[in-house]
Amino acid sequence: MKKFLFGLAAAALLCLAVSCGRQENNAKYVFYFIGDGMGSTHVAATEAYLAQERGVIGMDPLCFTQFPVMGEATNFSSSNIITDSSAAGTALSTGEKTKNGMLCIAPDSTTQLKSIAYKIHEAGYSVGVMSTTPINHATPAAFFGHNIKRGNYYEIGKEIPETGFEFFAGGGLYHPKGKEGNEEVSLYDMIAEAGYTLAYGYEDFKAKQDADRIVLVQSEGAEDICPYALGRPEGALTLPQIVEAAIAVLERNPKGFFMMAEGGLIDWTAHSQDLAGTIFEILDFDQAIAVANAFYERHPKETLIVVTADHETGGIALGRGRGYNYDLTVIDKIKNTTAPTDVEKYMNDAQSIDSVNIQAHIGWTTFSHTGGPVPVWAKGVGADKFAARQDNTDIPRKICEAMGVAF
Ligand SMILES: [Zn+2]
Repeated sequence: MKKFLFGLAAAALLCLAVSCGRQENNAKYVFYFIGDGMGSTHVAATEAYLAQERGVIGMDPLCFTQFPVMGEATNFSSSNIITDSSAAGTALSTGEKTKNGMLCIAPDSTTQLKSIAYKIHEAGYSVGVMSTTPINHATPAAFFGHNIKRGNYYEIGKEIPETGFEFFAGGGLYHPKGKEGNEEVSLYDMIAEAGYTLAYGYEDFKAKQDADRIVLVQSEGAEDICPYALGRPEGALTLPQIVEAAIAVLERNPKGFFMMAEGGLIDWTAHSQDLAGTIFEILDFDQAIAVANAFYERHPKETLIVVTADHETGGIALGRGRGYNYDLTVIDKIKNTTAPTDVEKYMNDAQSIDSVNIQAHIGWTTFSHTGGPVPVWAKGVGADKFAARQDNTDIPRKICEAMGVAF
């Protein structure tokens, strides 16, 4: 009898879920933001920095930390309790775990795993993949590439023109002529040959934005990351510009779009235990999310924004040694160093980076990643699905559910 009642209750719940699913419209426009290496504490440090700028103790919320839904996600890989970016990217793009170092290939080393970017594209939506890193670096590559080694950049890059996705952007492409630079055809030529328009920087993009499919990088033949937000030269390509560009290209499709935008350099600055650099990368990432949020304001009933991280980097702690304080005023001294050479010196001088952390009373535990859960924020159609303690493999499934796309 108990079993029967439980069955009845389950059936009733299922009916409810199905009918609710029918009532709620699907997300037509989806933004998937991944702050590489961005743990809760990196975000809190950024908010504390903003409050301190106003001369108060506290935390001033960012755009994305004001989203109404929050959850968190575990992120271990199939080989390591601490993931790397390619295994985490694979989990976030395919819903399957794999080994550190592998990109959208199952732990059996042969089976290819399918990113939701392909599934969503096949369902008729436009798709964009973008980062501040090179486009064929781990996290963006997890949305289109398949390789047993994340470092096989040339092989991974060759998959870009085969996707048919409408928009790609990043600092450039790693190894455009192969590891040794001796491949016959460069990735750039391959991409152009396949009918993509190459745009070099935001101004050039604006002149070419009517093209059907665009790959946006900093400059002709670029092989590097976008410049760091702290000390960035005037006119450099930024993530907020990249998201603006992506919207312009992708929103032309009446069916809708999906885009993955990575704040890739949060991880790089945190690997260096660079407090100021990390905070400025997160502020930049937040600006990019603010662009999506403005789009949301125009299409509130059709848009979903999900913000998460692939893992935490550096093991940052707000506090160091003894005492009940940390002090981020030291960052202003660095920020106000307007001469770019000084900023460069700071960026490249590990000792002065450490002295900044000591002065600020900020601790770091590792030059690698840590294994704790990462935060998940969401806003818009289907956002409630993310209000949970979940695994990173659940996130792409929930995005497909919100869009009504088969996972
Ligand atoms: Zn990393």
